[in-house]
Amino acid sequence: MIIYGSKTVHLDSVRLDTITCESCRTQGSIVLNVFRKHAHIFWIPLFPIGKRGLSECDHCKNVLEAKDMQEPLKSEYHRFKNNTKGPIWQFAGLAIIAVLIVWGNYASGQNEKLELEYIVSPMEGDIYEYKIEARSYSTLKVMSVSNDSVFVSPNEYEISKMSKIHKIDKLENYPEFSYGISRVKLKEMYDSGDIIGINR
Ligand SMILES: [Zn+2]
Repeated sequence: MIIYGSKTVHLDSVRLDTITCESCRTQGSIVLNVFRKHAHIFWIPLFPIGKRGLSECDHCKNVLEAKDMQEPLKSEYHRFKNNTKGPIWQFAGLAIIAVLIVWGNYASGQNEKLELEYIVSPMEGDIYEYKIEARSYSTLKVMSVSNDSVFVSPNEYEISKMSKIHKIDKLENYPEFSYGISRVKLKEMYDSGDIIGINR
């Protein structure tokens, strides 16, 4: 379950010495408050949604939202709101997501580099995940390696979901016999995407 919502944070307040309260006619009794709301997911602030504010009279406690303010209070409010900066931590979630994307790209790049290394210099015990046809996947286990060939034992099972291949990669699923594939052919299978992953 994803827990999300929004939270309002108080940014700043200012007393307006020159403005008179329209309700009780006291001068200098009005305080402006500005808030900024942010969306959060699992209580981590994701990004700000928008600023809003209200005025409150210290004297008569009259509270006004922006839409109900008269001039010159309205102008003072908009100026103050526009000049009030929100804290950068309200963007924390976006920053985390950006870092995860960069890290994910790096990790998958590293993985591709490793796989290429594995296909060029195969080792006994390597597992090749490969595509038989659409919605049909299986694995090959490297049993031995010679100068120009790799001898593999074919998994006796296949599975329809690529993401579940690891489920059939069990010792007892590989028969005793093995057959040879040339290293050139193996590289071709990897380049063409027939071999989709290598585990060592
Ligand atoms: Zn008042």
